[in-house]
Amino acid sequence: WLPVGVVLGLAIAAGLLMYIRSRSSLVGQLRYAIRRRQLQVHYQPIVDLATRRCIGAEALVRWPQARDVMVRPDVFVPLAEDNQLIQPLTDLVLDLVCKDMATLLQLRSDLYVSINLAAIDLSTDRFCAVLKRTLAACSIEPQRIAIEATERGFMHAQTAVGIIQQLRQMGHRVLIDDFGTGYSGLSYLQTFQVDVLKIDKSFIDTVGTEAATASVAPHIVEIGHSLHLKMIAEGVESEAQAAWLVAHGVQSGQGWLFGKPMPAQAFLDYLNNERQR
Ligand code: C2E
Ligand code: CA
Ligand code: CA
Ligand code: CA
Repeated sequence: WLPVGVVLGLAIAAGLLMYIRSRSSLVGQLRYAIRRRQLQVHYQPIVDLATRRCIGAEALVRWPQARDVMVRPDVFVPLAEDNQLIQPLTDLVLDLVCKDMATLLQLRSDLYVSINLAAIDLSTDRFCAVLKRTLAACSIEPQRIAIEATERGFMHAQTAVGIIQQLRQMGHRVLIDDFGTGYSGLSYLQTFQVDVLKIDKSFIDTVGTEAATASVAPHIVEIGHSLHLKMIAEGVESEAQAAWLVAHGVQSGQGWLFGKPMPAQAFLDYLNNERQR
């Protein structure tokens, strides 16, 4: 016979232990998948809004955990960040992209692919060295690989400013991801230079709606114009949104309206179809 408090305490402890074990086993699986190079990269087209021509693509990592089961990057990228797995993950993504680039560039030599960096990647110049080495090994010009960094990314890394400058000096375009959602204010835009702002999907979602926040999108676009920065709108799903963006002078877009993220072969087909149009 045990007091209720003790039973409850034991139950909670057991639950906690089970939770920790399930999580750590997922981490273990992820570590194994990265080591075995089981992650994949999908490509989502970035188009010129006026002509609808594909100018580039974003590389988005995928983890096929079991047959027909894809773990979402929103789940495993943070897990990688918390468990010292982000550097091997970023390196693997870069490697896979460079392998695909060989065929992609044969079809369209002016194409670029953007890669997402985590805050940790911006905390040392290690990634710059890896990038240089990897591109040299497959003879890809730095102009063909763009870098996506979030405001969150360089808020937590004192060194990020220097790394971003270094990446630009190496010839890479630097894109500010999820623009407008950061907590940083905009002062960093005076501290260092970037090439492109990617306007976060949450703002694009409100375009043409009655939402109370619908008035924010024009201001975000205005900031981009006043800084003379190119802009890519994320998460464009409707013709109405595309028309609004064109009318507001946003050059490029990415979203389901133009294409979902797809495996390399499907992206090659996409580019081929475009060429025949
Ligand atoms: P993100 O960088 O903001 O990527 C854009 C996300 O929006 C992608 O989700 C994409 O599939 C989704 N998306 C694009 N267009 C539309 C649309 O029209 N409608 C809707 N509903 N969604 C759209 P995904 O692929 O699930 O990636 C989620 C996040 O995971 C990314 O957000 C990024 O933060 C992270 N991530 C993905 N790949 C990598 C990677 O290789 N490295 C790192 N560090 N993070 C990555
Ligand atoms: Ca991104
Ligand atoms: Ca984004
Ligand atoms: Ca996002």
